[in-house]
Amino acid sequence: MEKALQLLKEVYGYDSFRKGQEDIIEGIVEGHDTLAILPTGGGKSICYQLPALLLPGTTLVISPLISLMKDQVDSLHRVGVSAAFLNSSLGAAEYREVLRNAMQGEYKLLYVAPERLDAPMFQTLSEQLHIPLIAIDEAHCVSQWGHDFRPSYRQLAGWIGRMPNRPLVAAFTATATEEVADDIAAMLRLNNPRRYVTGFARPNLSLSVVSGVDKKRFLKDFLKQREDQSGIIYTATRKEAEEVGGIVRQFGLESGVYHGGLSDTDRAETQEQFRFDQVRVMVATNAFGMGIDKPNVRYVLHWQMPGDLESYYQEAGRAGRDGEESDCILLFEPADMQVQRFLIEQGTGDTERKSIQMSKLHMMMNYSRTQRCLQQFIVDYFGESDVPVCGKCSSCLDKSEAVDRTEDAKMALSCVGRMKGRFGVTMAAKVLKGSRDKRLLGFGLDRLTTYGLMRHLPEKEIADWLYWLVAEGYMRLSEGQYPTVSLTASALPVLEGKEMISQRVRASVRQAASASS
Ligand code: ADP
Repeated sequence: MEKALQLLKEVYGYDSFRKGQEDIIEGIVEGHDTLAILPTGGGKSICYQLPALLLPGTTLVISPLISLMKDQVDSLHRVGVSAAFLNSSLGAAEYREVLRNAMQGEYKLLYVAPERLDAPMFQTLSEQLHIPLIAIDEAHCVSQWGHDFRPSYRQLAGWIGRMPNRPLVAAFTATATEEVADDIAAMLRLNNPRRYVTGFARPNLSLSVVSGVDKKRFLKDFLKQREDQSGIIYTATRKEAEEVGGIVRQFGLESGVYHGGLSDTDRAETQEQFRFDQVRVMVATNAFGMGIDKPNVRYVLHWQMPGDLESYYQEAGRAGRDGEESDCILLFEPADMQVQRFLIEQGTGDTERKSIQMSKLHMMMNYSRTQRCLQQFIVDYFGESDVPVCGKCSSCLDKSEAVDRTEDAKMALSCVGRMKGRFGVTMAAKVLKGSRDKRLLGFGLDRLTTYGLMRHLPEKEIADWLYWLVAEGYMRLSEGQYPTVSLTASALPVLEGKEMISQRVRASVRQAASASS
């Protein structure tokens, strides 16, 4: 692949490939359908742009991100590659002109938004043009199991299949669990694809979960040390974005606010200000970020837990794209779960989709509570194993004292075991508390031998304890809107007294725990 390396140097001015890039490019050029899962900032674009340069004809790039298309086409122009895009940002005349030029084979790369594509267009393009490769960016959008399903992606496979000469298909995404990757390959009808999963670990990011703090104070202290750094604060709702934006200004820092409720002009303006460091802190909902490539974001702070780990890591991963040390902080409160659950319930998905979202939410919750290395937890989730502990996340750095909670664990596990997987965490906590709740009494749960076993603790703390046991894998929650809790195989050794359970706890929890013994 000398040619590829030469082009990398000549066209892009880079000395070497990043992890995975060369194999992917080689695979495509040799004629293999491809499914590549590379983290945000991993350098996906080059993986299809270089093959486009190496192969004769026009490569189609399907991408849902209008702003990203423009950025990419601009930067391709800067390095002397002919490229264009077709999306809703073009006026009718411009659109026709691009299409006309495209039909004459003037572009090496043509970016197209999936909504813009239809069967006749595919037909015409493929009759008139030599299309060696179709690159599908953000390919997880084709999967119901992904976190950003877009129905327009579903049509692609059919159209591609009906093209007179089926081009190679290369699908790219930053976030796909193994399940989603399988689904992408099936939905896009990839032909015996080569699969690549690389580089999810981001060694320059320090991940932390911070819980049980006064968020406003935390933010104040945090920003004080970072006045001259660029950072993004993500909130779950537009209203919160406005509020937190206001708080940041109270602290005397310029902040931009970005969410879907603002006009296109306002958003574009704020984005530019942030990009050129006129505004240091961007407070935004998840509407911000698709395709932004600001290298020097030093921190990404989540004001609340997002709905799934894919979204979290994608958003957090916008920190440190230049490779410099950066921080990703998640402020977490157990109540965040309720907010996310509400968002799912109010969402547009059907029942199946909602139940998938609920199980993703539980995984996010587990991340927020785990004591495992956070970097390991995430890459494991994305199917990459054998990554060493990072040594700098909040779990790795946690020096707090470990408390023996084996007895508490036995009580909780035996109670949940006796409830036979028919109830949720809230009900299990009520039983352990010995609550006189009407539903509980109606089910006769006060007759369980474990009823009231943990009455010395507040009910909320018992629920937290149960969630902790879920996060550590001793119990599991079912999928669906009203998840029930049941034991996993890991519970047995604890119940049999063969395994001890210790928990690293903050002072307040420590007091409660010691009160029980
Ligand atoms: P993403 O995977 O998020 O689409 P990009 O393709 O936008 O990532 O690449 C992220 C950044 O890394 C870009 O600024 C890109 O120019 C740069 N980059 C990609 N490949 C290399 C390389 N081999 N050497 C140096 N920089 C690279």
